[in-house]
Amino acid sequence: MHELSIAMSIIDVAQEEAAQRGVQVTAVHIKVGALSGVVADALRGSFEMACCDTPLAGSKLVIEEVPAMIQCPKCGVPKPVSSIQWFCCAECGSPGHEITQGKELQVTALEVAE
Ligand SMILES: [Zn+2]
Repeated sequence: MHELSIAMSIIDVAQEEAAQRGVQVTAVHIKVGALSGVVADALRGSFEMACCDTPLAGSKLVIEEVPAMIQCPKCGVPKPVSSIQWFCCAECGSPGHEITQGKELQVTALEVAE
């Protein structure tokens, strides 16, 4: 249960922030990269399950899925990859080794009740 432990650490981060600011969290926004190995649906389910005994119960997990991108040597700009197994530019097919995004797994924002 990879997603469950991730959900729990997201809850920890949100809870700590909420306690510090003395607010009630209503939603947690996160970014999940295509290369992070996290399944968004599984994470959403784990989050719901894991937060039901915490002050975050009933809050929403808002997932922004970030596609994998590489710096294409030919196009000269970041381009989406043709697949996450082959890090080639989706446009011209050049292989790129510099991943510019897609490995993210981070809490980006908290929504709180007034
Ligand atoms: Zn290219």
